[in-house]
Amino acid sequence: MHRCPLCHNTDTSLFHRNKKRDMYTCSHCQLIFSDATSHLPPQVEKNRYLESNRKKQAALTQFLISLIAQCEQGSSAPLSGLNFGRVLDSSSLSSTGLHQHHIEQYDPFFAPDHHLLKQHYDYICCYKVFEHFRFPFKEWSLLGTMLKPGGWLAISTKLLTDIHSFDKWHHKNNLTHVSFYQRSTFEYLAEQAGFKLLFAANDLILVQKPSGSDITRGQS
Ligand SMILES: [Zn+2]
Repeated sequence: MHRCPLCHNTDTSLFHRNKKRDMYTCSHCQLIFSDATSHLPPQVEKNRYLESNRKKQAALTQFLISLIAQCEQGSSAPLSGLNFGRVLDSSSLSSTGLHQHHIEQYDPFFAPDHHLLKQHYDYICCYKVFEHFRFPFKEWSLLGTMLKPGGWLAISTKLLTDIHSFDKWHHKNNLTHVSFYQRSTFEYLAEQAGFKLLFAANDLILVQKPSGSDITRGQS
């Protein structure tokens, strides 16, 4: 039995098998997740992230700039933000020109400041991070807790849009990718939490925590 690491349902089944690992699907939240025995050892995983982080600095910089520009439209005050799970190096961060904003960064390997996880933020950036979550329930719960009312969570992750073409889906071949989401997975999560959900272009998912005055579970 493989318990779903996102919704904890036990109604899961083998979905895909290749030479490297097995993957399972959850009938409740539609997450597809890899067999925990196939997870890479931490040091191997860390080395992969070193390389991956370096390649993604420019894209992450642009992602963060556009996210803050969106959030600024609704606020004149400086924003407090958290870049979660994939950090910008100092030169990339200073290149954003966003010095007036307070941007914290957390990464379990390269910036493991747990104090930051007890703060609250106007926005949280998760750029190509969700697919790496071995315990997505824990991470999703943490992210929701850290959002201020009215705050935004911006998630960039490749959505699985054609379940029948999974065996040809390049995104699954990276062994650090262990959780795969469909639109219905995020719909399930948002409904459970009472968050607003918006699917934007290019695998961008926006989630807003309701402000105190408009908590209307299940409505969008
Ligand atoms: Zn599930």
